[in-house]
Amino acid sequence: MKFERPEIRETDIIKCAACGHNLGTMASIRERMNKAYQQLKRPAAAPKLQ
Ligand SMILES: [Zn+2]
Repeated sequence: MKFERPEIRETDIIKCAACGHNLGTMASIRERMNKAYQQLKRPAAAPKLQ
């Protein structure tokens, strides 16, 4: 697979490599991945500090 530009921009539409369906912009994908990552880092049973 070749990219026409060496850099991926936030506004680029990313397509699934397997079937070609639209995954959204690079920015939206990054945002989703960040949210998932934040949930992974957060302990499930964190004690509540009040
Ligand atoms: Zn796909």
